[in-house]
Amino acid sequence: MRILIVEDEEKIGSFVKRGLREEGFAADLAGDGQTGLDLALSEPYDLVLLDVMLPDMQGTELCRRFRTAGKSAPVIMLTARDAVDDKVAGLDSGADDYLTKPFAFEELLARIRVQLRRAHNKSEGHTLKVADLEIDLDNHEVHRGGQRIDLFQREYSLLEYLMYNSGRVLTRSMIAQHVWDMEYDSFSNVIDVHINRLRKKIDTDINVRLIKTVRGSGYMIQEP
Ligand code: CA
Repeated sequence: MRILIVEDEEKIGSFVKRGLREEGFAADLAGDGQTGLDLALSEPYDLVLLDVMLPDMQGTELCRRFRTAGKSAPVIMLTARDAVDDKVAGLDSGADDYLTKPFAFEELLARIRVQLRRAHNKSEGHTLKVADLEIDLDNHEVHRGGQRIDLFQREYSLLEYLMYNSGRVLTRSMIAQHVWDMEYDSFSNVIDVHINRLRKKIDTDINVRLIKTVRGSGYMIQEP
């Protein structure tokens, strides 16, 4: 899943970006409001983390423009003050949640996961399930039929994206844009390579295969 961070405080921005990448998210950082808005409108983010106090534009204004443009990805506001006015203004502008600085990274992660589940109509909880395949979103443990499966981080991120969108066909470009960040090389076959590795780990020796190739389109994970 891919997250945009709009934060002018370099230290906080790079700390959050690094933390999210360590958690398997693709993450991009914008240091001012205009750059943030341009990215938010041009790239298909799964979630936006938005600082309220930006040098060139209020976070609330950015959020309002994002919603006016018809974008529905969840927005979590980061506010330095614990003022009720800020929270109300944030939610009024179309934000889904807010977090007061300073915040614990674990708290931010928990809020992100709530918003991602909600946006994908997944029930509350810490796991995503398709048939007997289950992933734990908190500790990234993957089980199929009760057997633990070890995945590399990018394989996990790919599986998480497929699981959030179970039953939906995902094109290679969607996968590239949601699992990889700006550094992705669109001429490589890296997605097919990762899908094959994932299949070897979760769909081997089992009669019921969950990851389907949709010819000419892409991939999908689905209940058999
Ligand atoms: Ca700020």
